[in-house]
Amino acid sequence: MSDVRKESKEKLLFVIQKHDSRNLHYDLRLESEGVMKSWTVPKGPSMDPKTRRLAVPTEDHSMSYNDFEGVIPEGNYGAGTVLVWDKGMYTSTKDDGSTFADSLEEGHATVLLEGEKLKGRFALIRTKRGWLFFKMKDEFALSGSDILSDKPDSVKTGRSLAQVNEQESPSEMRDFQ
Ligand code: MN
Repeated sequence: MSDVRKESKEKLLFVIQKHDSRNLHYDLRLESEGVMKSWTVPKGPSMDPKTRRLAVPTEDHSMSYNDFEGVIPEGNYGAGTVLVWDKGMYTSTKDDGSTFADSLEEGHATVLLEGEKLKGRFALIRTKRGWLFFKMKDEFALSGSDILSDKPDSVKTGRSLAQVNEQESPSEMRDFQ
């Protein structure tokens, strides 16, 4: 297939933080032009192509927060517990030379994720009702799977949210979303 073109593409960072704040949600963050473009995915990612998840755009994040795992104290934005649910590299898979930022402007991005949990092609599509994030059909897709309950813990430390909450002292994080 297009392996040569794929390999010529720039590899960028992605991270998904599991964040137990006012509600439990998953923050999808993809590097673009020096920042982490971010979406809140209330129901979390899925490896089943039939499961399309709402993804609500949030503020760009600093890349320096990518590794953050800990407790944000009450009274701060995002107060609650955070763990690094998945991380790795990604490439934007459009073959027309457009960047991920171009694709977002068009409202239609496809990415190849090389995470520890999420692998293969995913789409981020803007619809009338908001952005959708979902697995595309490929050899990594798993019908009927539930990766959120199969692999709930941190890829950084192996801890659960409860363990992070127990073991970490609150740390001030400015504008963590
Ligand atoms: Mn969040």
